[in-house]
Amino acid sequence: MSSKFLDKLTFSVVPFRSAVKALRIFKIAYTPKRLWNGIKIVASMYVSKLIRRPVVWGIPPILMVEPTNICNLKCPMCPAIVGKRVLHKGQLKLNHFKALMDEVGSYVFQVQFWNQGEPFINKEFLEMVRYAKTKGVMTITSTNGHFIPTDEKAEEIVESGLDQIIFSMDGTNQETYEKYRIGGDFNLVIESLRRLSEARIRLKSKQPLIELQFIVFKHNQDEIDDIIRLAKKFKLDRLSFKTAMVYTPEQADTFLSAEQKEEVYKLEQDKVERKNGVPNWCNRLWLNSTVNWDGTVVPCCFDVDSDYIFDTLFTNGATFRKVWKNAAYQRFRRQVISNRSAVEMCNNCTEGMPQPYARIIELEDM
Ligand code: SF4
Repeated sequence: MSSKFLDKLTFSVVPFRSAVKALRIFKIAYTPKRLWNGIKIVASMYVSKLIRRPVVWGIPPILMVEPTNICNLKCPMCPAIVGKRVLHKGQLKLNHFKALMDEVGSYVFQVQFWNQGEPFINKEFLEMVRYAKTKGVMTITSTNGHFIPTDEKAEEIVESGLDQIIFSMDGTNQETYEKYRIGGDFNLVIESLRRLSEARIRLKSKQPLIELQFIVFKHNQDEIDDIIRLAKKFKLDRLSFKTAMVYTPEQADTFLSAEQKEEVYKLEQDKVERKNGVPNWCNRLWLNSTVNWDGTVVPCCFDVDSDYIFDTLFTNGATFRKVWKNAAYQRFRRQVISNRSAVEMCNNCTEGMPQPYARIIELEDM
């Protein structure tokens, strides 16, 4: 099988079949308050698109919350590595997370526990998941898979109520894996996958849905058959193939095949640009927001240098709902609606782009 096989797959962040499966597995409380908020925010997004001016009537159904910005690996294109500034490192406090959930937990559908670091480094992370579940929120995390050292830890994850976990593993052996996951231990990730999958079976649980995420690079594109076999062997649910995102021509040469470069990027001497330009729009400014470990609220995970801090929660009395509609957030929305390409980070972002961002296989279909 080759990378041509990927072209036959549905390309969307969440294809229809995956979304239906998710509805069966994920435990979300569909309360009138949550549904009404969803209707309001989506309606305001479409109104804004129509009148080309930001109006905001609800709060985002999806919140990205960063348990920590500390990581054990050094992946060369990770936003935390390519950032211009070295941000201070730290971990989200449990009482701060609880305060955030007490304020907005009954409105949001999903909390995504990730951003720049490895979530499991925060020892209170699973307690945060448990707290979010008391509010009826769907919980999802993304890990490099180095922090499930025992069967007990695997069972604790299953019992926390976590709805979905994404393992990042872009190789089927140590040699190709560590070309990108620098500092990573392939066998440790495999063991973590096995432990979690077995714990789920032992505890007769459907959660968490286990997804293996494979970024397709020049050096691993011939391992697609092998990764499918491996994912099936460990009884995982889903496999997603993502397009690598590069920031410099050197990275493009090192990590992308000629086809990948041709398909997505326009390469100039010292910079890379997306081929098709960017639309003056971003759904995420209505549907999603990001809270960093230190309480700073930024538009999305692409703001790796925290250039667009709208305000800081937890310390100065700011509430999320006020920040979400404050002047700085609205100014940013206006900027993206009028001229998105003027915002540097928005130029290499997949939001609203015609190229596929992820191709997903439901393994039970194979
Ligand atoms: S980088 Fe810009 S366009 Fe992309 S999600 Fe963030 S705000 Fe939206």
